[in-house]
Amino acid sequence: MIQKIKGTIDVLPDETPLYRMIESVMREEAKNYGFGEIRTPTFENTELFERGVGDTTDVVQKEMYTFVDRDENRRISLRPEGTASVVRALLEHGCQSDPMPLKYFYLINCFRHEAPQAGRSREFFQFGAELFGAEGAAADATMIALASSVFRRLGLKGLTLHLNSIGCKNCRGGYRSALVDYFGARREELCDTCKTRLEKNPLRLLDCKSPICNSIAKGAPKTIDFLCPDCKAHFDALTRLLDGMGIRYVIDPAIVRGLDYYTRTVFEFIADGIGAQSTVCGGGRYDGLVEELGGAPMPAIGFAMGITRVILALRAQGIEEPKPAAPRLYIAALGEKASEAAAVITERLRQTGAFVECDLVGRSLKAQMKYANKIGADYTLILGDNELESRRAFLRDMKNSTQTEVELDTFTLP
Ligand code: ATP
Ligand code: MG
Repeated sequence: MIQKIKGTIDVLPDETPLYRMIESVMREEAKNYGFGEIRTPTFENTELFERGVGDTTDVVQKEMYTFVDRDENRRISLRPEGTASVVRALLEHGCQSDPMPLKYFYLINCFRHEAPQAGRSREFFQFGAELFGAEGAAADATMIALASSVFRRLGLKGLTLHLNSIGCKNCRGGYRSALVDYFGARREELCDTCKTRLEKNPLRLLDCKSPICNSIAKGAPKTIDFLCPDCKAHFDALTRLLDGMGIRYVIDPAIVRGLDYYTRTVFEFIADGIGAQSTVCGGGRYDGLVEELGGAPMPAIGFAMGITRVILALRAQGIEEPKPAAPRLYIAALGEKASEAAAVITERLRQTGAFVECDLVGRSLKAQMKYANKIGADYTLILGDNELESRRAFLRDMKNSTQTEVELDTFTLP
């Protein structure tokens, strides 16, 4: 038997109602905050992610699914995230000349070659939103408010918003040398990747997953202590806005985010009780990315939510899962003629938009009634010789145990 690829998931029909419920809350909230849905390809030129995510990040260095396209001999990657593609698309379609801000959301699958575990798979699903063309802290607050609002509508409890600022190019210089001094002093203890990062991109040492680097990183200098006056003012404005909106947060200098393009605001929503992979949403400002990908400089901020982790968190708090829909009517039939009539009437009613079922597997009448009960049909109707003759039958309301006589060829469901 062929099995699914390690780190992928199947979602069967008894679970999809939960996915649909979550996704519809996400779509609904995105709409209320003025975000339009964008759909981009599942794969892109590898270079887009090398430039857009950063070629010293774990995602690009270790986790991308990359292959050479058959005929064109160029490198292609399955998307590991959504932001780079959104920026590429908006540049490719000239959206930079549209009225600002630009607001997009997406529900996508992403691919990363990581060690599969609870809350971490190789194909996973994200809800993401991106806002372009607004540099003030109100844009940051709006994004955080959208994410919180999704969580609130889902009834997800036990979440903490961790907030930090990693500054801009101006504050980066001083911070960078502080990091190089700090990590350089312990160079020999670092993993090989981080030894290289120390020269190329010391900020990446802060989110290395290797236990030793990770524990060294805990004592590292904090970005928040190196902010320039503008970045400091931006961060203060953001916290004032969040206070005004009643959105609670903790300032957490350990949040630096795994991708290269972030500037200023970075944040994560972290859930209790779902184990080590507890970040259900991560985001931040990335004012340098659009320019990096060839556009005119344009401020931007976004986030991505891991749908599988949202589900883990909802289940950990014991939410009641939405059930698959039950049919309005089950038509039971006795004998071959009646079965044929049942199939025809079922089709007629389905054309009126009703969810109706009848037997397809040759169950006995008794077994059909048992099955109708099991699938929770609101009404049942039994067809036998008499009913076929008179073209009338009794429609039984399963809840109230009442019945009304109906005309087989014209009745509709109440
Ligand atoms: P992590 O630190 O957990 O690896 P990340 O910083 O790599 O997360 P992002 O790139 O910010 O993650 O992706 C946004 C969100 O997508 C994460 O907060 C998480 O909820 C989800 N996510 C990321 N990678 C995976 C994965 N391999 N499996 C399931 N969900 C994931
Ligand atoms: Mg990761």
